[in-house]
Amino acid sequence: MHTKVKTMKMLLGGEWVDGEDTFEVRNPQNNELIALVPRASKNEMVNAIEKADETYRKLESWPTHERIKVLNNVVDYMRDHKEEFAQIIASEGSKTITEARGEVKRATQTIQISAEEARRINGQTINFDQNEGSEDRVGYYYRFPVGVVAAITPFNDPLNLVAHKIGPAIASGNAIVLKPASVTPLSALKLAEAFVEAGLPKGLLSVIPGSGKEIGDTLVTHPVIKMVSFTGGSEAGERITHIAGVKKVSMELGSNSPVIVLKDADLDDAAASCVSGAFSAVGQNCIGVQRIYVEKELYPSFLDAFIHLAEQLKVGDKMDASTDIGPMINEREAIRVENWVEEAIEEGAVLAIGGKRDGAYYAPTVLTDVPSHARIAQEEIFGPVVIMEAVGNLEEAVEKANNVNYGLHAGIFTNDIQKAFYSIKHMDVGGIMINDSSDYRIDEMPFGGMKNSGIGREGIRFAIESMTEQKVVCFKLKL
Ligand code: NAP
Repeated sequence: MHTKVKTMKMLLGGEWVDGEDTFEVRNPQNNELIALVPRASKNEMVNAIEKADETYRKLESWPTHERIKVLNNVVDYMRDHKEEFAQIIASEGSKTITEARGEVKRATQTIQISAEEARRINGQTINFDQNEGSEDRVGYYYRFPVGVVAAITPFNDPLNLVAHKIGPAIASGNAIVLKPASVTPLSALKLAEAFVEAGLPKGLLSVIPGSGKEIGDTLVTHPVIKMVSFTGGSEAGERITHIAGVKKVSMELGSNSPVIVLKDADLDDAAASCVSGAFSAVGQNCIGVQRIYVEKELYPSFLDAFIHLAEQLKVGDKMDASTDIGPMINEREAIRVENWVEEAIEEGAVLAIGGKRDGAYYAPTVLTDVPSHARIAQEEIFGPVVIMEAVGNLEEAVEKANNVNYGLHAGIFTNDIQKAFYSIKHMDVGGIMINDSSDYRIDEMPFGGMKNSGIGREGIRFAIESMTEQKVVCFKLKL
């Protein structure tokens, strides 16, 4: 069946407009053209930023109860159009329809939580009299919005990661200009439609598609932008951090997450959790399981159980609700993964299963005996590949897990509380899951990494903290 190609507009300063140019959005499963989307120019980006600033200044005292109302209206819209959102995610991206439906549910919740958190943006009184000479002062601090937030998002959760930027920004009274990933801009534009329908004042939100390399610098360096919230790869993140200038920066970057499985672990539970954590979204997941360190006594049976479960995953048509694994985001990415696997094999790694590519599809793959210096052991594969290694004890596992330049999430399977606490204390990560894989997250928790995995934390309440500043108020009294 041939889908009708849609010609999209972008939301610029509250108006739906065409761009000076367009780019194509294609379904990665069959390369079918599904939409033509505005490819914004630098001028159009500047225009959106200036409109955001103008609107923010006009609406600086836009009351909290109205923000809550708009966010709740968005939630209603998303619930009413949930299947439409899921179809968009599954057709422009590489998620299966089942994964896409799950993402819509989470994104709706992200906006719902944003509405709830808007009520709780509070300050505190300050006891100035703790300092000698300040006995006659009273005061407090409160939080105020930074002004205009710049947001840039990746392809792998094209709706929920956009919701994680727009929800907290609007909840905390900011204006926001968002640039979605060029391969998956349609989910972001649909969410923009939800905000328009929900009654968001015109100009507070712009969704500007276009090439990150062409218009990214314009967005992040503009002096009106007071905070840059970026989710994506470490390379772009590092560049943005260098050029942004004196502004707040939040960086949600990549990782190659480790999971440790100790000999006292529940084998079936650990294997099932690791298989799901490694291969959901075809491994294109910032907290996906990439490296598994198993205590040597359990290693042979864990490897067998893992392979047995991985081989049962159904690879196929992503629109079929029974499919577990769809295509990667495009063939170029699948070829990159194929090259990394072949490179590791040339360096001595052993292919346990997988290693096959068919267009944009790459089979679930397990490698053993991977040299620690191999690219696949050090960098983020961002594909359906896991490396598995036997270790002598927990200390060795932790040392190996830490021996990379990333630190987002980790998991450990053990029933020994001392060992769990050892790993909590010694693992260099932003989140550690005990008896779960690294792939566990709820949208409310502080989420972010160490080292090259980023700066700052998301999770609605924590994103609101980074999108607001404290203002101190102090009264000198004559009582
Ligand atoms: P990416 O290539 O870094 O792209 C992410 C976004 O940055 C896209 O919108 C892209 O625009 C834009 N961009 C690229 N170069 C830029 C530049 N020089 N200046 C400004 N913007 C630029 O990442 P991706 O392939 O879409 O996503 C995968 C990565 O995101 C992985 O590393 C993954 O781990 C990470 N990620 C992290 C989290 C987290 O919360 N920690 C969550 C999800 C994903 P174009 O699309 O136009 O190139």
